[in-house]
Amino acid sequence: MNVPPGRKATYIGGSQYRRNAYGTNHPLAIPRVSLATELIRAYDALTPSEFVHARKAADFELEWFHTAEYISAFKKAEALGRVSNQVRQRHQLGTLENPYFDNFFTIPATAAGASIQAAEQVIRGRIGFNPAGGMHHARPDKAQGFCYFNDTVLGIMRLRREGWRVLYIDIDAHHGDGVEAAFLDDPEVFTLSLHMDCGYAYPFTGGQLCDSSAIGHASLNIPLPEGTNDAEYRLVFDAVWQPVLEGFRPDAVVLQAGTDMIFADPLGKLGLSTQGFLGISQTVIETSPVHGDGTPRLLVTGGGGYHPLVLARAWTGLWALLSGRSLPEMLPAAAVAALRSVAWDMDEDEPHFEQLFNSRVDVLSSIAVRPEIHRLIASVQQHLLIANLP
Ligand SMILES: [Zn+2]
Repeated sequence: MNVPPGRKATYIGGSQYRRNAYGTNHPLAIPRVSLATELIRAYDALTPSEFVHARKAADFELEWFHTAEYISAFKKAEALGRVSNQVRQRHQLGTLENPYFDNFFTIPATAAGASIQAAEQVIRGRIGFNPAGGMHHARPDKAQGFCYFNDTVLGIMRLRREGWRVLYIDIDAHHGDGVEAAFLDDPEVFTLSLHMDCGYAYPFTGGQLCDSSAIGHASLNIPLPEGTNDAEYRLVFDAVWQPVLEGFRPDAVVLQAGTDMIFADPLGKLGLSTQGFLGISQTVIETSPVHGDGTPRLLVTGGGGYHPLVLARAWTGLWALLSGRSLPEMLPAAAVAALRSVAWDMDEDEPHFEQLFNSRVDVLSSIAVRPEIHRLIASVQQHLLIANLP
């Protein structure tokens, strides 16, 4: 990778992510942030001055978006060691989808606090990266799609308190529905989500181009067909990104960088490679508005991603881009050991285990562009004209 040196970026992390939340029988019961951090540290690519410990969000901060009743349900459950039936029904907590786990309030409240910290880093002139964030489905009083507190909304709200206009770009495989809904009444926040068409993927409703707002509102949904590959995604992305950026003129960009858009993901049905993921991220980084010294005004969160080895590699590459580093393709021995230590019976890229971005699963991505992609782009361009963006 070739990246300009000297970008100022801060990684928000913490020891609490070493424990696996979500119990044992859940797509998120895998090492994620901890493994990515281990890989980054194995590369010696994180200095003490780039690292900030995540803090728990204060109640008043959570209340920017969530109801007091919802917040108190978490605290009661954590104290009680379980979720009551009433809370389960009222808030969708303690269900199969959104299970109870130890430190039930502390863990999501810390992931939420970390996105507020990331926003504060951006306000101070650095890029802020919260890999534990990106919980884009959560609602004010309801958990949804493995998401408890919507740290993404809270991070955007922190930037809004500076009076900044914010462009949110969500490249997670799933529709960023919770974030879109949160800002429907705020014309100073534009939400742009590229995702698996909800006709075949979670959340199975909304997220269509026709659900995007027209004049005076600011959201754009791009539903993608199954198997969308690097070349197809790039064409669609290029058709929307620059027009939205130039039409909306944000003061800052927030990127939700879920890795479930990568081909090998067990819950995702798109066909991108890790390089495809990083290429889109790089464009967002390079085109975001900048501070006086050229550092992008950019908040980045994690998001979905259910293949731990792919996720750790992708976020290591993302951190390299954010912090202006070039990493050698061959993994350091400590990184190989960290990847090998993961119990993952879906790992099929053993022959390429010692490389960072050229695993077998990446080589399989097709490069042909299907006619339906050209039709999608034509519809999007028509919609952008109607929405009065240049
Ligand atoms: Zn997702």
